[in-house]
Amino acid sequence: MVKVKLFNTYSRRKETFVPLKEGEVRMYTCGPTVYDFVHIGNFRTFMFEDLLRRSLKFLGYKVIQVMNLTDVEDKIIKASREKGVSIFQYTEPYIKAFFEDLRNLNIESAEYYPKATDHIPQMIALIEKLMEKGYAYRLADSVYFDISKFPKYGRLSRIKPGSKAFSRLDADEYEKQEVGDFVLWKGKKEGEPSWESPFGPGRPGWHIECSAMSMHYLGTTFDIHTGGIDNMFPHHENEIAQSEAATGQTFVRYWMHSQHLLVNGERMAKSKGNFYTLRDLEKMNYSFKAIRFLLLTTHYRNPLNFTFEALKQAEKNVDRLLDFFHRLKEYRGPEKEPDPQVMDSITRKKEEFAEALGDDLNISGAISAVFSLMHDINPLIVEHSLGREEAVLALKTMEEFDQVLGILEEKGELEEWVLPLIKEREKARKNKDFATADRIRAELLEKGIILEDTPQGTRWRRKTWGD
Ligand code: AMP
Ligand code: ZN
Repeated sequence: MVKVKLFNTYSRRKETFVPLKEGEVRMYTCGPTVYDFVHIGNFRTFMFEDLLRRSLKFLGYKVIQVMNLTDVEDKIIKASREKGVSIFQYTEPYIKAFFEDLRNLNIESAEYYPKATDHIPQMIALIEKLMEKGYAYRLADSVYFDISKFPKYGRLSRIKPGSKAFSRLDADEYEKQEVGDFVLWKGKKEGEPSWESPFGPGRPGWHIECSAMSMHYLGTTFDIHTGGIDNMFPHHENEIAQSEAATGQTFVRYWMHSQHLLVNGERMAKSKGNFYTLRDLEKMNYSFKAIRFLLLTTHYRNPLNFTFEALKQAEKNVDRLLDFFHRLKEYRGPEKEPDPQVMDSITRKKEEFAEALGDDLNISGAISAVFSLMHDINPLIVEHSLGREEAVLALKTMEEFDQVLGILEEKGELEEWVLPLIKEREKARKNKDFATADRIRAELLEKGIILEDTPQGTRWRRKTWGD
């Protein structure tokens, strides 16, 4: 197994990654606030998390990932009131749109997508514990975390209480005793949605949601917590304070943050108006694959300056890879002994790819292994000298690369029409209607899909050379 090193923001060092449980990674990802369409700046962060997830799986780990949906929050409440609908009615279409965008960008599904509004009891329990232990205080109808009680406060962000960044801290309408103390429970205000609690009716603050939901699904200590760099302070700093104060245990073992997507040197943000949604770019006829490739291929710890030139370049690179992939699929060459040098060099590319990803997701290294395979193999296709076994290995390796890149295979699309046909065939077989079953099998074969009936059920795969 390739040794994995990850840059831990907590130590500001690349560290050897050792998960709590061998072979299994538990990770939490701060998800979107679903008050509008998500922009591609947000997707840069979600793409980094997809790369992390896919790379860890590629390197042999099982991944359990949680991504929360913030569905109760000041902006949502304001917008839903203006529209005269409930927060649930307001957020529903944006949640749907978010999942559609994830699918279009081929971002793998997390195992859990908890909504804040479904986990209010867990948040209340955590706040109660903090009150019991003396870390939280009530003021008017709200409850706050007292950061002076948590000496480790500021360790992650290295921002000290009293410093400049602190003085800029949320000048929200909730009065607290000290700058830096943050709200855990917001007392009910007229016309706002609220939940009953031992501290009176109200709603949770933002930070508590991530502590409560991450620990609920992943345990009091888990492996990786990710987010965009702007989440580090105060959000993640506050998550550490709340969680560790309540449990007395280390909250997260590896913190990972991605740098921002910039436009003309400035962070892409809703508030700045300098953003594009996926839908904007789709209307301009850019492909999802090119957008995915662009967001994926700058190392996550470097800022990514968004330009249309770069997007066009990504489109070209994706086309080249797709073209190679399809040529390889269709290629039929001579039957001959495989050349050990060709075979070794393909195997070596896969090792380089894995080693690069294991080195703190060095995507440039990984991509250069992919292009280098293409450069080595392409001329052999043109010359028609690539042997059968060599071609099969090259194709298999490209398919393996795509487990991480996610731009070549149309698996999702295939599944959409293959799976219903398989179900129909199974039904026919149960009814002993073998004529229909055979017709469906033949129909699929014609479209390049081979069915295999096993004791576990029917499996399908793409027809390859030699079938
Ligand atoms: P939000 O919906 O604002 O909570 O953001 C969701 C995620 O997107 C968070 O992890 C943010 O850090 C991240 N994010 C916001 N803007 C950008 C940007 N311009 N570039 C990269 N990530 C961003
Ligand atoms: Zn969060």
